[in-house]
Amino acid sequence: MVKNVIRYGYVPFMLIGINGAAVYLAAHGASELWLISLIITAVACSFAAERILPYRDEWNTGLDDAGRDAAHAVVNETFILASVAVIPLLAAIAPSHHWWPSSLPFVVQVFLAVLVADFGITTIHLASHKVGWMWRLHAVHHSIRRFYGLNGLMKHPLHQTVEMIGGVLPLVIMGIPVQVASVLAVCVAVQLLLQHANVDYRVGTLRSVLALNEGHRFHHLKWAGVGDVNFGLFTLVWDHLYRTYSYDPQRGFTTDDLGMAAKPHYPTAYFRQLVEPFTARGACHFVDTDADMSSRRTESTP
Ligand SMILES: [Zn+2]
Repeated sequence: MVKNVIRYGYVPFMLIGINGAAVYLAAHGASELWLISLIITAVACSFAAERILPYRDEWNTGLDDAGRDAAHAVVNETFILASVAVIPLLAAIAPSHHWWPSSLPFVVQVFLAVLVADFGITTIHLASHKVGWMWRLHAVHHSIRRFYGLNGLMKHPLHQTVEMIGGVLPLVIMGIPVQVASVLAVCVAVQLLLQHANVDYRVGTLRSVLALNEGHRFHHLKWAGVGDVNFGLFTLVWDHLYRTYSYDPQRGFTTDDLGMAAKPHYPTAYFRQLVEPFTARGACHFVDTDADMSSRRTESTP
């Protein structure tokens, strides 16, 4: 009974319940502290759902990565919240801040922000698999050996910055209100938790539209080329257009399928992961930028 509630109710609870609470609180002028409380609640729900209905039991057990992942999550989430906090300042100096359609209903403004961010972040993500220097930074995220909620924030802070520039800067230039940006920050946190969750939830045919864990597991297959699919953050719409959508209902996933085949010994400690992109090893055996991605493809195809 409880497992069935999680299986079919977890995604609606997070997408409509948590995100809906964020919309309600922001629209009614609640203190910004609610934002942190909601994100902590979402993380707690993610861990609880992973224990009740895991996709794989062993992915709930740490591989000496729990502390590192917590460090990545705290640093990156703090950076996101700090960025939201400076939006009023940025909005004040942006010359075109009157572009934002403030007259629309608040929830419509949130949907608009999500759609714009989805396009920008998905496109930056795809580029991160094609451009050598971007892959160096993004490789930190692909070094995961188990697939669970906190992986979403397990990324190099500089790569997160690049993603934010692509996804959020257009919104800031348009003059996004801080209340809308606050809800967007919650939506991103919830989406990252859902997308990487070790929860065997189901959404039916919506799995081909929403960028959730059923599709995102394919993105973390360790063989380059094979894993260069399903880049979407919120939706898979852009993957359908970019011809990078992939799904096989028969495919199962184990620990051996995850990570990077070309980098089986990628550093696992937090600070070593921060440094790795700037080392020769971070370039996938070749220092030459143009060779980065082609070497990754040719060497790591199964
Ligand atoms: Zn990726």
